[in-house]
Amino acid sequence: MLEANDLMVFYENMLALNNISIQCHDRQIVGVFGANSAGKSTLMYTLSGIMLDIRKKEAMAGGERITLTGSLRFEDRDIMEMKPSLRARAGIILCPERRRLFKESSVVENLRIGGYLATKAQAKKTLDYVMEVFPALQDLRGRLAGFLSGGEQQMVAIGRALMAQPKVLLLDEPLLGLSPFMQATLVKATRAIQQESGISIIVSEQYARPVFPIVDYAYILENGAAVMEGTREELMDNPDVKSAYFGVS
Ligand code: ATP
Repeated sequence: MLEANDLMVFYENMLALNNISIQCHDRQIVGVFGANSAGKSTLMYTLSGIMLDIRKKEAMAGGERITLTGSLRFEDRDIMEMKPSLRARAGIILCPERRRLFKESSVVENLRIGGYLATKAQAKKTLDYVMEVFPALQDLRGRLAGFLSGGEQQMVAIGRALMAQPKVLLLDEPLLGLSPFMQATLVKATRAIQQESGISIIVSEQYARPVFPIVDYAYILENGAAVMEGTREELMDNPDVKSAYFGVS
């Protein structure tokens, strides 16, 4: 349903994405793994279209020149030049790295903000679902987002993205900085969301291990290029992947 071919992104002369081709089919969870600076956020910004806004802002401010090439298709439409707001309406929703919540607003207010694209009925139903999938948020409904723990904030960030009625949910490093227990909780919730709502998910992480068990297919990025890809089983059986990404040989 979402398919990128030969994506290249340059920040001035610095190549941040090098000929990336990725696919995410209906109801799949696709992993994108890579070290710091491998290009994960650049890829997420490019898929969600936010890169177009960044490019425009930079051009207007006389800042760096950003160049994007390649093709991007969603549900058989060419979306390479489609604005991020229209991509969101079409169902591509980004949950950005470091969560970016409205810290002075409550949990429920943050969630409702995410529902601006939904009908009233959809928003109510999804809000109930978010509370079901993240029961810890139930008692925190009125708490200001800035006072939540990192894990709780991530739950709100994912919940807010769900409120926008995604067909494809882009999760950029959702586990960053969280405890192993919280990571496991979020991974379990991510799988439940995919299974129960049937959406597709592309999730990026620096460390593959915690999310690996729930991905159907994954790409490994190095210096902006996809150096390896395969189904979970294919990658699990690959000795190079094991030693580089799981610390076992
Ligand atoms: P992290 O885990 O640190 O978030 P990442 O895999 O998400 O890393 P990106 O943020 O996509 O990586 O960065 C890819 C490369 O592009 C890095 O070398 C980074 O320094 C560079 N880069 C990112 N944004 C810009 C920018 N606005 N201008 C110039 N270079 C940039």
